[in-house]
Amino acid sequence: MQLLDGKLISQSVKDSIKSELDTYLAQGLRRPHLVAILVGNDGASRTYVDSKERNSLALGFDSTVLRLPESTTEEELVAIVEKFNNDDLVDGMLVQSPLPAHINEKRITQTITPHKDVDGFHDINMGKLAKGDEGFVSATPLGVMMMLEAYKIPTQGKHCVVVGRSNIVGRPMSLLMSSSRPYGNATVTVCHSRTENLAFYTQQADILIAALGKPGFVTADMVKPGAVVIDVGITRIDDTSRKSGFYLRGDVDFDQVKDKAAYITPVPGGVGLMTIAALLSNTFKAYKNHLSL
Ligand code: NAP
Repeated sequence: MQLLDGKLISQSVKDSIKSELDTYLAQGLRRPHLVAILVGNDGASRTYVDSKERNSLALGFDSTVLRLPESTTEEELVAIVEKFNNDDLVDGMLVQSPLPAHINEKRITQTITPHKDVDGFHDINMGKLAKGDEGFVSATPLGVMMMLEAYKIPTQGKHCVVVGRSNIVGRPMSLLMSSSRPYGNATVTVCHSRTENLAFYTQQADILIAALGKPGFVTADMVKPGAVVIDVGITRIDDTSRKSGFYLRGDVDFDQVKDKAAYITPVPGGVGLMTIAALLSNTFKAYKNHLSL
Protein backbone atom coordinates (compact mmCIF):
# COMPACT_ATOMS: atom_id res chain seq x y z
CA MET A 1 0.00 0.00 0.00
CA GLN A 2 1.19 3.50 -0.77
CA LEU A 3 -0.03 6.48 1.16
CA LEU A 4 -1.25 9.41 -0.94
CA ASP A 5 0.45 12.19 0.97
CA GLY A 6 -1.62 15.38 0.95
CA LYS A 7 1.06 17.25 2.85
CA LEU A 8 3.73 16.53 0.25
CA ILE A 9 1.57 17.18 -2.82
CA SER A 10 -0.16 20.28 -1.47
CA GLN A 11 3.27 21.74 -0.62
CA SER A 12 4.51 21.11 -4.14
CA VAL A 13 1.38 22.77 -5.61
CA LYS A 14 1.94 25.77 -3.32
CA ASP A 15 5.67 25.93 -4.16
CA SER A 16 4.92 26.05 -7.86
CA ILE A 17 2.32 28.83 -7.40
CA LYS A 18 4.80 30.78 -5.27
CA SER A 19 7.64 30.56 -7.77
CA GLU A 20 5.37 31.70 -10.63
CA LEU A 21 3.96 34.50 -8.46
CA ASP A 22 7.49 35.66 -7.61
CA THR A 23 8.14 36.32 -11.31
CA TYR A 24 5.01 38.54 -11.48
CA LEU A 25 5.93 40.39 -8.30
CA ALA A 26 9.43 40.97 -9.69
CA GLN A 27 7.73 42.70 -12.65
CA GLY A 28 6.02 45.06 -10.19
CA LEU A 29 2.57 43.50 -10.39
CA ARG A 30 0.27 43.49 -7.36
CA ARG A 31 -0.42 40.38 -5.28
CA PRO A 32 -3.44 38.07 -5.73
CA HIS A 33 -6.23 38.95 -3.30
CA LEU A 34 -8.64 36.43 -1.75
CA VAL A 35 -11.65 37.53 0.30
CA ALA A 36 -13.27 35.05 2.68
CA ILE A 37 -16.54 35.82 4.45
CA LEU A 38 -17.59 33.96 7.58
CA VAL A 39 -21.00 34.46 9.17
CA GLY A 40 -21.59 33.18 12.71
CA ASN A 41 -19.55 31.10 15.12
CA ASP A 42 -19.43 27.54 13.77
CA GLY A 43 -16.19 26.05 15.16
CA ALA A 44 -15.22 23.99 12.11
CA SER A 45 -15.96 26.92 9.76
CA ARG A 46 -13.75 29.20 11.84
CA THR A 47 -10.92 26.67 11.60
CA TYR A 48 -11.32 26.37 7.81
CA VAL A 49 -11.36 30.14 7.28
CA ASP A 50 -8.33 30.64 9.56
CA SER A 51 -6.46 28.01 7.56
CA LYS A 52 -7.40 29.65 4.23
CA GLU A 53 -6.15 32.99 5.55
CA ARG A 54 -2.90 31.53 6.91
CA ASN A 55 -2.15 29.66 3.69
CA SER A 56 -2.99 32.68 1.49
CA LEU A 57 -0.64 34.92 3.44
CA ALA A 58 2.13 32.29 3.49
CA LEU A 59 2.02 32.20 -0.29
CA GLY A 60 2.27 35.96 -0.59
CA PHE A 61 -1.40 36.59 -1.40
CA ASP A 62 -3.36 39.43 0.12
CA SER A 63 -6.10 38.06 2.33
CA THR A 64 -9.21 39.77 3.66
CA VAL A 65 -11.36 37.84 6.12
CA LEU A 66 -14.69 39.29 7.15
CA ARG A 67 -15.98 37.69 10.35
CA LEU A 68 -19.62 38.71 10.57
CA PRO A 69 -22.07 38.14 13.44
CA GLU A 70 -24.75 35.42 13.31
CA SER A 71 -27.35 38.22 13.19
CA THR A 72 -26.16 39.43 9.74
CA THR A 73 -29.16 39.62 7.41
CA GLU A 74 -29.35 38.17 3.91
CA GLU A 75 -29.65 41.67 2.42
CA GLU A 76 -26.55 42.85 4.31
CA LEU A 77 -24.58 39.84 3.08
CA VAL A 78 -25.72 40.35 -0.53
CA ALA A 79 -24.61 43.99 -0.33
CA ILE A 80 -21.17 42.96 1.00
CA VAL A 81 -20.69 40.35 -1.74
CA GLU A 82 -21.69 42.89 -4.39
CA LYS A 83 -19.19 45.38 -3.00
CA PHE A 84 -16.39 42.82 -3.44
CA ASN A 85 -17.73 41.86 -6.89
CA ASN A 86 -17.13 45.47 -7.91
CA ASP A 87 -13.76 45.83 -6.20
CA ASP A 88 -11.10 45.67 -8.87
CA LEU A 89 -8.45 44.74 -6.31
CA VAL A 90 -10.23 41.50 -5.36
CA ASP A 91 -9.53 38.42 -7.48
CA GLY A 92 -11.34 35.66 -5.62
CA MET A 93 -14.12 35.47 -3.05
CA LEU A 94 -15.78 32.76 -1.00
CA VAL A 95 -18.53 32.68 1.58
CA GLN A 96 -17.91 29.91 4.08
CA SER A 97 -20.64 27.28 4.29
CA PRO A 98 -22.84 26.56 6.21
CA LEU A 99 -24.60 29.91 6.55
CA PRO A 100 -27.10 30.58 9.36
CA ALA A 101 -30.58 29.19 8.60
CA HIS A 102 -32.13 32.63 7.99
CA ILE A 103 -29.81 33.24 4.98
CA ASN A 104 -30.59 31.68 1.61
CA GLU A 105 -27.25 30.07 0.75
CA LYS A 106 -28.20 29.48 -2.88
CA ARG A 107 -28.91 33.20 -3.37
CA ILE A 108 -25.52 34.13 -1.91
CA THR A 109 -23.71 31.58 -4.10
CA GLN A 110 -25.37 33.03 -7.18
CA THR A 111 -24.53 36.60 -6.13
CA ILE A 112 -20.77 36.01 -6.32
CA THR A 113 -19.65 36.98 -9.80
CA PRO A 114 -18.59 33.77 -11.62
CA HIS A 115 -15.10 35.02 -12.46
CA LYS A 116 -14.33 35.54 -8.74
CA ASP A 117 -16.11 32.33 -7.66
CA VAL A 118 -12.99 30.42 -6.57
CA ASP A 119 -15.14 27.82 -4.77
CA GLY A 120 -16.71 26.93 -8.13
CA PHE A 121 -20.22 26.77 -6.64
CA HIS A 122 -21.94 29.25 -9.02
CA ASP A 123 -24.35 27.69 -11.54
CA ILE A 124 -22.25 29.07 -14.40
CA ASN A 125 -19.11 27.33 -13.14
CA MET A 126 -20.99 24.09 -12.39
CA GLY A 127 -22.53 24.28 -15.87
CA LYS A 128 -19.12 24.79 -17.47
CA LEU A 129 -17.78 21.78 -15.59
CA ALA A 130 -20.73 19.66 -16.76
CA LYS A 131 -20.08 20.74 -20.38
CA GLY A 132 -16.32 20.31 -20.19
CA ASP A 133 -15.64 24.06 -20.55
CA GLU A 134 -13.01 26.02 -18.67
CA GLY A 135 -14.22 27.59 -15.40
CA PHE A 136 -13.67 27.26 -11.67
CA VAL A 137 -13.98 23.77 -10.22
CA SER A 138 -14.92 23.13 -6.60
CA ALA A 139 -11.69 22.93 -4.59
CA THR A 140 -12.08 19.49 -2.97
CA PRO A 141 -12.66 17.50 -6.18
CA LEU A 142 -10.02 19.60 -7.94
CA GLY A 143 -7.59 18.76 -5.13
CA VAL A 144 -8.32 15.05 -5.59
CA MET A 145 -7.55 15.38 -9.32
CA MET A 146 -4.24 17.11 -8.48
CA MET A 147 -3.37 14.23 -6.20
CA LEU A 148 -4.16 11.54 -8.81
CA GLU A 149 -2.03 13.45 -11.30
CA ALA A 150 0.87 13.93 -8.88
CA TYR A 151 1.01 10.16 -8.24
CA LYS A 152 0.41 9.42 -11.95
CA ILE A 153 -2.46 7.09 -11.09
CA PRO A 154 -4.00 5.79 -14.31
CA THR A 155 -7.70 6.65 -14.55
CA GLN A 156 -8.51 6.16 -18.23
CA GLY A 157 -10.96 3.28 -18.72
CA LYS A 158 -10.95 2.50 -14.99
CA HIS A 159 -14.12 2.07 -12.99
CA CYS A 160 -14.45 4.94 -10.53
CA VAL A 161 -17.17 4.71 -7.88
CA VAL A 162 -18.04 7.96 -6.11
CA VAL A 163 -20.09 7.62 -2.93
CA GLY A 164 -21.92 10.92 -2.45
CA ARG A 165 -23.58 13.33 -4.89
CA SER A 166 -23.41 16.70 -3.14
CA ASN A 167 -22.91 19.79 -5.28
CA ILE A 168 -19.60 20.60 -3.61
CA VAL A 169 -17.95 17.18 -3.63
CA GLY A 170 -19.62 14.07 -5.09
CA ARG A 171 -21.28 15.61 -8.16
CA PRO A 172 -18.30 17.66 -9.42
CA MET A 173 -16.00 14.73 -8.57
CA SER A 174 -18.02 12.40 -10.79
CA LEU A 175 -18.06 14.97 -13.61
CA LEU A 176 -14.28 15.41 -13.44
CA MET A 177 -13.56 11.68 -13.39
CA SER A 178 -15.83 11.02 -16.38
CA SER A 179 -14.67 14.05 -18.40
CA SER A 180 -12.35 13.82 -21.34
CA ARG A 181 -9.09 15.03 -19.80
CA PRO A 182 -5.81 13.62 -18.55
CA TYR A 183 -6.58 11.81 -15.30
CA GLY A 184 -10.27 11.69 -16.30
CA ASN A 185 -11.80 9.34 -18.88
CA ALA A 186 -12.94 6.94 -16.18
CA THR A 187 -16.21 5.02 -16.25
CA VAL A 188 -18.07 6.48 -13.30
CA THR A 189 -20.77 5.15 -11.00
CA VAL A 190 -22.34 7.61 -8.56
CA CYS A 191 -23.81 6.15 -5.35
CA HIS A 192 -25.93 7.93 -2.75
CA SER A 193 -28.16 7.28 0.22
CA ARG A 194 -30.83 5.59 -1.93
CA THR A 195 -28.38 3.21 -3.62
CA GLU A 196 -29.38 -0.39 -2.98
CA ASN A 197 -26.61 -2.83 -2.08
CA LEU A 198 -23.87 -0.18 -2.04
CA ALA A 199 -21.11 -2.73 -1.43
CA PHE A 200 -21.95 -4.40 -4.77
CA TYR A 201 -20.75 -1.20 -6.49
CA THR A 202 -17.86 -0.27 -4.21
CA GLN A 203 -16.39 -3.78 -4.58
CA GLN A 204 -16.07 -3.15 -8.34
CA ALA A 205 -14.22 0.14 -7.97
CA ASP A 206 -10.69 0.49 -9.31
CA ILE A 207 -10.87 3.97 -7.81
CA LEU A 208 -13.18 4.43 -4.83
CA ILE A 209 -13.96 7.97 -3.69
CA ALA A 210 -15.82 8.18 -0.39
CA ALA A 211 -17.60 11.49 0.25
CA LEU A 212 -20.62 10.71 2.37
CA GLY A 213 -19.81 12.15 5.79
CA LYS A 214 -20.21 8.89 7.74
CA PRO A 215 -17.03 8.19 9.74
CA GLY A 216 -15.50 4.74 9.21
CA PHE A 217 -18.33 3.70 6.86
CA VAL A 218 -16.18 2.04 4.17
CA THR A 219 -14.88 -1.24 5.55
CA ALA A 220 -12.39 -3.71 4.04
CA ASP A 221 -15.10 -6.05 2.69
CA MET A 222 -16.42 -3.16 0.54
CA VAL A 223 -13.07 -2.63 -1.23
CA LYS A 224 -11.59 -4.43 -4.24
CA PRO A 225 -8.02 -5.67 -3.60
CA GLY A 226 -5.54 -3.23 -5.15
CA ALA A 227 -8.03 -0.34 -5.37
CA VAL A 228 -7.15 3.34 -5.11
CA VAL A 229 -9.10 4.66 -2.11
CA ILE A 230 -9.69 8.38 -1.75
CA ASP A 231 -11.24 9.43 1.55
CA VAL A 232 -12.88 12.86 1.34
CA GLY A 233 -14.80 12.54 4.61
CA ILE A 234 -13.86 14.68 7.59
CA THR A 235 -15.89 14.34 10.77
CA ARG A 236 -14.98 15.73 14.18
CA ILE A 237 -15.27 13.02 16.82
CA ASP A 238 -15.53 14.23 20.43
CA ASP A 239 -12.58 13.13 22.53
CA THR A 240 -12.12 14.73 25.93
CA SER A 241 -8.64 13.18 26.30
CA ARG A 242 -7.35 15.57 23.61
CA LYS A 243 -6.57 19.23 24.14
CA SER A 244 -8.74 20.21 21.18
CA GLY A 245 -11.62 18.08 22.50
CA PHE A 246 -11.93 16.15 19.24
CA TYR A 247 -10.11 14.19 16.55
CA LEU A 248 -10.80 13.92 12.81
CA ARG A 249 -12.04 10.75 11.17
CA GLY A 250 -12.63 9.98 7.50
CA ASP A 251 -15.39 7.96 5.81
CA VAL A 252 -13.01 5.02 5.35
CA ASP A 253 -12.00 2.64 8.13
CA PHE A 254 -8.33 3.32 7.43
CA ASP A 255 -6.85 0.59 9.64
CA GLN A 256 -8.90 -2.12 7.91
CA VAL A 257 -8.72 -0.84 4.36
CA LYS A 258 -5.03 0.13 4.22
CA ASP A 259 -3.89 -3.48 3.80
CA LYS A 260 -6.26 -4.10 0.90
CA ALA A 261 -5.75 -0.89 -1.10
CA ALA A 262 -2.90 -0.12 -3.47
CA TYR A 263 -3.13 3.57 -2.62
CA ILE A 264 -5.04 5.33 0.16
CA THR A 265 -5.38 8.87 1.52
CA PRO A 266 -5.03 9.40 5.28
CA VAL A 267 -7.34 11.62 7.36
CA PRO A 268 -6.03 14.04 8.36
CA GLY A 269 -3.15 14.67 5.95
CA GLY A 270 -4.92 13.74 2.71
CA VAL A 271 -7.71 15.41 0.77
CA GLY A 272 -8.23 18.24 3.29
CA LEU A 273 -4.78 19.70 2.58
CA MET A 274 -5.34 19.29 -1.17
CA THR A 275 -8.56 21.31 -0.86
CA ILE A 276 -6.63 24.30 0.45
CA ALA A 277 -3.99 23.94 -2.29
CA ALA A 278 -6.74 23.78 -4.94
CA LEU A 279 -8.43 26.88 -3.53
CA LEU A 280 -5.13 28.78 -3.73
CA SER A 281 -4.66 27.49 -7.26
CA ASN A 282 -8.15 28.72 -8.22
CA THR A 283 -7.39 32.12 -6.67
CA PHE A 284 -4.13 32.34 -8.60
CA LYS A 285 -6.00 31.44 -11.80
CA ALA A 286 -8.59 34.18 -11.07
CA TYR A 287 -5.74 36.65 -10.55
CA LYS A 288 -4.03 35.71 -13.82
CA ASN A 289 -7.34 35.89 -15.70
CA HIS A 290 -8.04 39.27 -14.11
CA LEU A 291 -4.64 40.71 -15.08
CA SER A 292 -4.64 38.84 -18.42
CA LEU A 293 -1.35 37.10 -17.56
P1 NAP B 1 -23.32 16.07 2.13
O1 NAP B 1 -23.75 17.31 1.45
O2 NAP B 1 -23.97 15.68 3.43
O3 NAP B 1 -23.50 14.87 1.10
C1 NAP B 1 -23.32 13.54 1.49
C2 NAP B 1 -23.63 12.63 0.32
O4 NAP B 1 -23.44 11.30 0.74
C3 NAP B 1 -25.08 12.76 -0.16
O5 NAP B 1 -25.12 12.69 -1.57
C4 NAP B 1 -25.76 11.55 0.46
O6 NAP B 1 -26.81 11.00 -0.33
C5 NAP B 1 -24.62 10.54 0.50
N1 NAP B 1 -24.81 9.58 1.58
C6 NAP B 1 -25.08 9.82 2.86
N2 NAP B 1 -25.21 8.67 3.56
C7 NAP B 1 -25.00 7.68 2.67
C8 NAP B 1 -25.00 6.26 2.76
N3 NAP B 1 -25.24 5.64 3.93
N4 NAP B 1 -24.74 5.56 1.66
C9 NAP B 1 -24.49 6.16 0.47
N5 NAP B 1 -24.47 7.50 0.32
C10 NAP B 1 -24.74 8.25 1.41
O7 NAP B 1 -21.76 16.08 2.45
P2 NAP B 1 -20.55 16.75 1.61
O8 NAP B 1 -20.56 18.21 1.81
O9 NAP B 1 -20.52 16.18 0.23
O10 NAP B 1 -19.32 16.17 2.44
C11 NAP B 1 -19.07 14.77 2.53
C12 NAP B 1 -17.92 14.55 3.51
O11 NAP B 1 -16.77 15.19 3.00
C13 NAP B 1 -18.13 15.15 4.89
O12 NAP B 1 -17.49 14.36 5.86
C14 NAP B 1 -17.43 16.49 4.81
O13 NAP B 1 -17.00 16.97 6.06
C15 NAP B 1 -16.28 16.12 3.95
N6 NAP B 1 -15.67 17.24 3.22
C16 NAP B 1 -14.33 17.26 3.22
C17 NAP B 1 -13.68 18.24 2.52
C18 NAP B 1 -12.19 18.24 2.51
O14 NAP B 1 -11.59 19.25 2.29
N7 NAP B 1 -11.56 17.05 2.71
C19 NAP B 1 -14.40 19.22 1.84
C20 NAP B 1 -15.78 19.14 1.82
C21 NAP B 1 -16.41 18.13 2.51
P3 NAP B 1 -28.17 11.82 -0.66
O15 NAP B 1 -27.80 12.76 -1.76
O16 NAP B 1 -29.10 10.76 -1.11
O17 NAP B 1 -28.56 12.50 0.60
